Amino acid sequence: MSDFYGPFEKDLEKAEASIEKVSIEDQVSDVPCEKCGAMMVYKMSRYGRFLACPNFPACRHTLALPNNIGVPCPKCGGELLERISRKGRKFYGCEKYPECDFVSWDRPVADKCPVCGSYMVLKRGGKDTLYHVCANETCRHRVQVESAASEDNDG
Ligand SMILES: [Zn+2]
Ligand SMILES: [Zn+2]
Ligand SMILES: [Zn+2]
Repeated sequence: MSDFYGPFEKDLEKAEASIEKVSIEDQVSDVPCEKCGAMMVYKMSRYGRFLACPNFPACRHTLALPNNIGVPCPKCGGELLERISRKGRKFYGCEKYPECDFVSWDRPVADKCPVCGSYMVLKRGGKDTLYHVCANETCRHRVQVESAASEDNDG
């Protein structure tokens, strides 16, 4: 375990050095900068991905991006990301967007529907009751989830 920190620190140094020199190609998001209205771009930091205004340094607005939710995209198997819509509503979309157009307002879960094999989403059915509900409109099979403890607040 003792050699864990050695290579890790070296990587950090490397990452910090490269942040200034190399600009990773900016992928334009669909989120407008709330300061200047430019379409924000995805940036990579050692803390993960975030959105930054393309007019940097004139405009220094940035937006934290939640990481992927650890559930594969039901359409293409890519990562699902928690995102915020233009109207400020939370949704889940595929990292491969726009190549893959999968989106869901409800948080998809890794479990597949035991009835039809479709993906399932997390729904709150009451105070402390969570369900996995089949996303297939014609199925809507529902499975109650034991504990709500795993659903925590945004860190
Ligand atoms: Zn801006
Ligand atoms: Zn996908
Ligand atoms: Zn189903």
